[in-house]
Amino acid sequence: MFPIENYHYATSVEDAVQHLAAYEGTKILAGGTDVLVRLHEGKSGYGHLIDINGLDELKTISMDESGTIFIGSRATFTEIITNDIISRNVPMLAQSLLTIGGPQVRNTGTMGGNICNGAVSADSACAALVYEFDLQIQGTEGERRESIHGFHTGPGRTILQQGDLLKSFVIRPENYTDFKASYIKYAMRGAMDIATIGCGAAIKMHGEEVETFKLAFTVAAPTPIRCPTAEKTMKGAVISEESLKRLADAVAADVKPRTSWRASKEFRLHIIRTLAKKVTRQAVDNQGGTC
Ligand SMILES: Cc1cc2nc3c(=O)[nH]c(=O)nc-3n(C[C@H](O)[C@H](O)[C@H](O)COP(=O)(O)OP(=O)(O)OC[C@H]3O[C@@H](n4cnc5c(N)ncnc54)[C@H](O)[C@@H]3O)c2cc1C
Repeated sequence: MFPIENYHYATSVEDAVQHLAAYEGTKILAGGTDVLVRLHEGKSGYGHLIDINGLDELKTISMDESGTIFIGSRATFTEIITNDIISRNVPMLAQSLLTIGGPQVRNTGTMGGNICNGAVSADSACAALVYEFDLQIQGTEGERRESIHGFHTGPGRTILQQGDLLKSFVIRPENYTDFKASYIKYAMRGAMDIATIGCGAAIKMHGEEVETFKLAFTVAAPTPIRCPTAEKTMKGAVISEESLKRLADAVAADVKPRTSWRASKEFRLHIIRTLAKKVTRQAVDNQGGTC
């Protein structure tokens, strides 16, 4: 049996926040693909659960008249992948989520859980960083909007406070309109594997020149990151072997890979350089351009 000491089935967002605030270390149970696995492993700190699976308002995916996209924190990976608003406007997000686990995990796991568990390897994190997600959070002091930038504070850690519940992700139109993007996950296996390195890029061209370029990595530093130094090298550039080589050289200044059982930091750096070029080419190809 799972060592659950206290379980509450939330009846509203306010009810969930109230119970989350009442007891230090209480965890939210969404899809459970992290929480129940940790419980099963006997990990401490998972005995007090607030189950949010009754809160359907947290599952909605919508777009308002301004073109702002809202993705409920409880939307499963499969619901996001198969959603028309997502595939038409931010297809790289669906591309990223398709790399997660297998069908069972994608049918159950949520993007809210993927970002809020603070995992440095989260496959939704690169899309969140290059599409500049905002996070709508309900806390004991009311509702607030936080940027994805700075949300992750360390491995498994985020800015969320006790009593905080993520309600939705917000993508503003200026952050996806006319951008083409791509995601590559480097892992030992083709499925059911955690990323050794994840890499995502979004690019907006002005004729042959790069107008805006955004590059993000997972497992290349203690948190998912953007790469300002590398991004600067591409501004105004024409996509070519030379500009991509400059990009691959510059990205080393933005990353801080470490050695783990999955890969040495030297091997990770090699993959980082290679993926930076490859994902940029792919993003341009998605734009119908060639290089
Ligand atoms: C077999 C397997 C394969 C996997 N493969 C991958 C993979 O390839 N890539 C990958 O990125 N992940 C992978 N995962 C990890 C996992 O599926 C994801 O991290 C998933 O997104 C977690 O979502 P969940 O809804 O199941 O979260 P839960 O387990 O319910 O919660 C996870 C954490 O997030 C918090 N949380 C959840 N929702 C909210 C909210 N709305 N507000 C605030 N906090 C919240 C919880 O308190 C908890 O700490 C895998 C897991 C398994 C079991």
